[in-house]
Amino acid sequence: MSILNIYLDRIDHNLKYLKSLIPEKSELIAVVKSNAYGHGAVEIAEFLEKRNIKRFAVASAKEGKILREGGINSNIIVFYPDPSDLSQIIKYSLEPAIYSKQIWKNFTYELIKFNKSSFPVHIKFNTGLNRIGFNMNEIDWIIKNLVSSAFKINSVYSHLSSSEEEKNNPFTDNQIELFEKIKIPFQNIDKNIKYHLLNSSGVFNYHDHNYDWFRVGISLYGYSNNKLWDDNLIPVAELNSKIIQIHKVKKDESVGYNSGWISKRDSLIATVAIGHADGIGRYFGNGKTYVTVNDKRARIIGNICMDMLMLDVTEIDCKEGDKVILFDKINSATKFAESGDTISYELLSGIGQRVIRNYI
Ligand SMILES: *Cc1c(COP(=O)(O)O)cnc(C)c1O
Repeated sequence: MSILNIYLDRIDHNLKYLKSLIPEKSELIAVVKSNAYGHGAVEIAEFLEKRNIKRFAVASAKEGKILREGGINSNIIVFYPDPSDLSQIIKYSLEPAIYSKQIWKNFTYELIKFNKSSFPVHIKFNTGLNRIGFNMNEIDWIIKNLVSSAFKINSVYSHLSSSEEEKNNPFTDNQIELFEKIKIPFQNIDKNIKYHLLNSSGVFNYHDHNYDWFRVGISLYGYSNNKLWDDNLIPVAELNSKIIQIHKVKKDESVGYNSGWISKRDSLIATVAIGHADGIGRYFGNGKTYVTVNDKRARIIGNICMDMLMLDVTEIDCKEGDKVILFDKINSATKFAESGDTISYELLSGIGQRVIRNYI
């Protein structure tokens, strides 16, 4: 059985640190997409609501629906709504990002159908990431169509491509400059519109360019994209599993699928009840990654299976039933992810549904 222990009070520490970087009048949007980066969206949002966080963001309408059904009543932005999601957005009082003329038109049609007006939306601009968002040259179209639309623009935002890269970064500077230009026509039509640009790394790196709101995900959970910033955060989660069997293998025997590992000496092999279906992908196999068993580092050997992985525990005093820690506060998800050439975001958001979430 594998367990993700989630130490909620560590979120308080991370919140406090994030808020210390940004002027008090800026409001924090807690990004709880992808099941709060694996930590459990409803539980995390509930906790944050008690800490007076009033704005949340998810990727899809379905994620918003889960929050509403879990009793979350705060504002919920949907970053990447699909046109087919729009009736759900209305039904669950979610606030969509409008990122193209197409989604503007689809949503307008839907709002008229439901006889809605002044529906809160957020306008997303592309300032260089070239992923999603209106382009600068569509501002006039937006302003012209807004008058007769069923929308009320709550905020205008964009997203940085390289916020974790070292300053001064001309690409980021250009994105900031474009965002400043985008603001002007909107400020002219409505003084109440809010602006936001920074994600977690943006807060660490560009807090001198904060706006009305800032959108943080990974840092709430205790990780950043830079070792220096990591020092100020506490990883919230510990992922552990158990040794379910120990084998003695002789020199030159193989372990696992396709004889992925060959013993160079008589060895002790521990089988652990977590695999790629739980989010520990095959790229963590074959000697690249270490876990912790009874305070000792043990290497993952051979190919990771769907439900299990194997460790070389020849030099570790351990027995069946002992706990195996994949990542925790000390050997964090960032470090673990790096050994498989990936990032904490992918590792955390990929933790499978079988892994029990335990809130402490
Ligand atoms: C996921 C996401 C964020 C949060 O980014 P972090 O790096 O986790 O802080 C912010 N803004 C948008 C648009 C996102 O999609």
